[in-house]
Parts: sequence; C-alpha cells; structure tokens
Amino acid sequence: MELRVSDCLKETGYRLNFDEVCKLLFKDEELGQLGPVHFSGTVIGLGMDKVLAAVSAESFITLVCGRCSKPFTYSFAVDFEEVFSADPELDQFSENPSLPIVDGCRIYLDEAFRQNVLGVLPMAAVCDSNCPVPEAPQQRQKEIDPRWEKLVELKTMLPDKISRSQK
Ligand SMILES: [Zn+2]
Repeated sequence: MELRVSDCLKETGYRLNFDEVCKLLFKDEELGQLGPVHFSGTVIGLGMDKVLAAVSAESFITLVCGRCSKPFTYSFAVDFEEVFSADPELDQFSENPSLPIVDGCRIYLDEAFRQNVLGVLPMAAVCDSNCPVPEAPQQRQKEIDPRWEKLVELKTMLPDKISRSQK
C-alpha cells in the first residue's frame, strides 16, 4: 500500500485522508493466505521532513483450526500509527524509530501492517469456540480397562518370537 505524501511534507499540519482496498503479498507462512486489506486513515505533516500515518486496516485470513484441522476465515482489524521520515537514520536509536519516506515523497504501509497483524493473530487458531477438543492420544492409552493392564505389561516383556507365534 503506497501513499504519496508530498503535500504533507510541504505543509506542516496538512492532512491527507485515504481509503483504499489493496492486495498485499507476503512470503511468510503466517500471512500467506491474507485477503485484500481495506486501509483507511490520515497522514499528517509533522514538519522536519516527517509525517505521521494513523491507519485503520481491516482484512481476513485463512487459518487452519488447531482442533479439527479445517481451514476457516478469520476476520480482524488493526489500528496503528507510524512516523515516516525522509532521514530515518537520524532517530534509528530512539525508542520509536521512524520508517523511511522513499524517493522523497512515498510511504509504504505494508511492513507496519505486517508487524501489527502478527501481533493480533491468534497463536492457537480455533474455527469456533464450540469446536470439540480432540482427545490427546496419551489419554486414550490410559483408558485401557485396568483388568487388561497386567496382560499388556506381560506382552511387552515377551521376546518378539514368542509373541508372534502366539498370534
Ligand atoms: Zn475446528
């Protein structure tokens, strides 16, 4: 997502409103299945060759459910603010380093969007809170009838040949 911010750089306090839908492409696995992103917000001229972008972004992504393993659509919205500077090296060591203004007039929201989205995506995605939790295999093993436990134990103690000839 590219914005031309020449007017914001010429005039401190100049406000550029934007409202656009665009398709971003990311190579990461996390964001590979991202839908088109609806960006809206304002870029404000801060003076000193800097602008502030206040952004709202809405989109959806295909995730795989951690319970039933089926893909599902996860919708989300993120708001973020970033300062862009024609000379970002000046504050690269500050707490909030600015992002670069490219060719003296363009800013890109992609990377800031990516960072913010990774913060809101669920670590363990679930298609629906009612999706049943699968039983862990270990729990199933414990459900062996206690009366058979001794037999199972004996079977593991038998040398391979004997157990095969008994089948
Ligand atoms: Zn599920």
